[in-house]
Amino acid sequence: DHAAAQGEALLRSYASAVEDAHADLTRMDRLAGDGDFGDNLRAGMRLVVRRLDAGAGTAALQTAADVFLDEVGGTSGPLFGLLFSELARAAAAQPDPTSAWREGLAAGLSAIQRVGEAEPGDRTLVDALAPAVDALAGGTLADAATAAVDGARATASLRARRGRASYVGDRGAGVMDPGAVAVAVLLLVAARELE
Ligand code: ADP
Ligand code: MG
Ligand code: MG
Repeated sequence: DHAAAQGEALLRSYASAVEDAHADLTRMDRLAGDGDFGDNLRAGMRLVVRRLDAGAGTAALQTAADVFLDEVGGTSGPLFGLLFSELARAAAAQPDPTSAWREGLAAGLSAIQRVGEAEPGDRTLVDALAPAVDALAGGTLADAATAAVDGARATASLRARRGRASYVGDRGAGVMDPGAVAVAVLLLVAARELE
């Protein structure tokens, strides 16, 4: 059906964007963390594409949720798993993609904060996701993407209070949080593919 085809197209586009962003994401996590974020996200998206190629397209977002929850390492793996899981649940309940993302992104943010306990300003992917959820409440996916990009940019001047980047002090000064950048890229792809 149409929603499944859209989910598959979205994930293939995101996988391609992650290939392009891999070097930058690695550099950011090397400067402000332990350097594995690009590898973690790329390995996850490559596995998602392999499963889509093998015919998992009817439950594309749930496939991504399973991959990231069960197979992807790092702090970010399970957190992206929770986000994909809520997007999958919302896509199954809501035929309109913008409504599905409005519901799924908000539920994903709640799940991520329940598990990771990060607040806005802690220099995590929450700094891209929370503004996107706020923008999407009264706007479009394009508005949410703009808010996520602005939020990711602003992490460059934040000091980490969560995750591994919090151990390295000011080493990450001036560098954007890679998880926030990856969320912003996801929103940009969603705006392009779904609206
Ligand atoms: P690790 O730090 O275990 O190597 P990754 O490199 O895979 O994990 O992921 C790092 C990203 O995870 C960070 O850029 C940040 O956006 C995100 N992150 C870390 N801790 C949290 C948290 N508690 N809540 C939300 N996101 C977090
Ligand atoms: Mg890391
Ligand atoms: Mg690590």
